[in-house]
Parts: sequence; C-alpha cells; structure tokens
Amino acid sequence: GPRVLSGIQPTADSFHLGNYLGALRSWVRMQADHDAFYCVVDLHAITVAQDPALLRERTRVSAAQLLALGIDPDASTLFVQSHVPEHAQLSWVLECLAGFGEAGRMTQFKDKSARQDADHISVGLFTYPVLQAADILLYQANQVPVGEDQRQHLELTRNLAQRFNSRYGDTFTVPSAHIPKEAAKIQDLQDPSAKMSKSQPSGVVDLLEDPKRSAKKIRSAVTDNEREIRYDPEQKAGVSNLLAIHSALTGRTIDELVAEFDGSGYGDLKKAVGEAFVEFAVPFQEKVHGYLADPAELDKVLARGAEHAREVATETLRVTYERVGFLPPL
Ligand code: ATP
Ligand code: MG
Repeated sequence: GPRVLSGIQPTADSFHLGNYLGALRSWVRMQADHDAFYCVVDLHAITVAQDPALLRERTRVSAAQLLALGIDPDASTLFVQSHVPEHAQLSWVLECLAGFGEAGRMTQFKDKSARQDADHISVGLFTYPVLQAADILLYQANQVPVGEDQRQHLELTRNLAQRFNSRYGDTFTVPSAHIPKEAAKIQDLQDPSAKMSKSQPSGVVDLLEDPKRSAKKIRSAVTDNEREIRYDPEQKAGVSNLLAIHSALTGRTIDELVAEFDGSGYGDLKKAVGEAFVEFAVPFQEKVHGYLADPAELDKVLARGAEHAREVATETLRVTYERVGFLPPL
C-alpha cells in the first residue's frame, strides 16, 4: 500500500486525548493497508529544554503507549527518531533550501516563541518544521496522518519537496496531509476556543492519568449558557467538542448522538463522555504498564524498527547527497 509517516514527541508524561483522537487513531487504522513508519521524535523534543533522564523515560513510555493503542510492530515500522541519524542529515540539506521568511511564517513557532523572550527560544524551535519535513521526505511518504494544527507544516514540507525536485531533479515524493474530518482538532475542556495541548495543561485529558480524574475534568468542562445539545463548533465550541470526543471514542456519528441527547441536559452528555473515556482508558493503561514491565523487550522492538527504517533512510540520503553535488566517499 501507499507509504505513511508520522511522529509524536516524547515531551509529556502521557499523550493526551487530542493526540489520540486527532492523530494516533489514524496511525492505528492506516497500518492495515499502508506501509507505515511511525516514530517517537526525540530530536524534536529537545527544541525546548528537557531533563535527560526524563526524556529517556518518556521515550519508552511513548513507545509503550503506541503499542497499547494498537500499533503492531509487525504491521508497521515503529522507531525512535534519534536511532536513525539520517533525519538530522537530511534536515541540514533542507535547511539550506528553506527560506528564512518562509520558516518565520509558521504560526506554531510564532505562538510558542511569543510566550518567551528571544534568548530562551532555541534556533531548533525555529527550524523544527524543516526537521519535520526531513522526517517525512526521508521515507518518500505519500500520506502523513496528523491533526489540523499540522496543516501548515505539511504545506512547508510539500513546498520543500517540490523546490528540491525542480532544482535537482525528481527525488522526493510530495506528500499530502491525512487529517480526520471529525476530531481533527480537540479543544481544551476549560477553554474550548483553544486546542487541547500539553503546552497549556489546564483542560487537558491525559491518557495515563487516573481515569476518575479525567471523568471529573470532563464533567466540569466549560460549555455555554444555553440548554440545547447541537453540533455547532462556532457558536457552541464546548458542547461540540464533547460531541466530537464522544463520537470519536465510541464510533457513533455526531448525528446519532445529537438525536440521542435531544432533550437531555449538558450534565448527561458530560457523564456519558466521561464514561466512554473510562471504558477506553482502563484497558489502555493496563496494556501500557504491561509493556513498561519489560523495558528490554521494548528496546528490542524499537531496535528492530530502527534497523528497518534505516534501510529506507540511507538510500534516500545517498541519492539526495549525490543530487546536491557532494563528492561520494570512497
Ligand atoms: P505541543 O503543544 O507541544 O505542540 P501537542 O500537544 O501539539 O504538543 P504534538 O506531539 O506536537 O503534541 O502532536 C502530536 C500529534 O497530535 C500531531 O499530529 C498533532 O497534530 C496532534 N494533535 C495535538 N493536539 C491536538 C488536538 N488538540 N486535536 C487534534 N490533534 C492534535
Ligand atoms: Mg504540536
């Protein structure tokens, strides 16, 4: 099948519901009929300061979560980004192709850097989307399953691929974003005008937190002053977010849910969403702890993944270096 690549950062103690519903659910679904490459992107993680021991631990916990969500290492290639040095090597070539102004227009960089003064923002945070382009182009991916917030980065990747191809000859597959229609953007429960994000942890539901606590967070989600349960992300962001979460967790359509909750109160909807989450989280957490109980086996799975990833990555890098005009080593 077509090639897919996606990555997730090991920068929190747990993935959150936005990561799962916006991106990771597609990862699992796509591995059945795609040639899938999924990586824990630790190189991206250090664009902001990380504690080394914690980063190592979170990398394993991230891999365990991916396995527990259903990523099957026999059906897809699961690996850690830093185990494949070609990511950083291709990134340099693409950095020299990307425009400074072009990179400066990335809204995620503008948002994240606006929260800090210039000396605390790393150059790596600025060039992060270019490394992301390298991640994707290295595997000649056709599709990239991500949440809505990654659309602009994907557009940059496409532009860099096309620019390289027209300057040096056809080399990279130009990928397209695979963004789910519903749940592409899960909103913060306390501030439904903002996306759920680990960078703003107030209304975030973590997959590994105590599910009772999650259900409580969901029950206290911010909604609106009306009483009507209908799907309208513009006017009713909080209620629509709850409907989207419910639908994504249970596989039922928004229309079905709106019909079911016709005449019910917001409290009923919140309770049902909380229950749907607990039903998902309890077995999920059990599986994660099972994988973490045997870190040597986990590391072996990741080593196997990296070995397979490198077979593809070294070939793309070899061709790229040749096209650029680097003298091949004897
Ligand atoms: P940060 O705020 O540090 O960028 P994040 O919460 O966005 O962190 P990432 O590791 O950057 O997490 O994202 C992993 C994947 O999850 C990406 O594909 C991203 O599009 C998706 N994603 C993140 N937040 C959401 C959300 N609220 N709704 C849907 N998808 C999301
Ligand atoms: Mg993000």
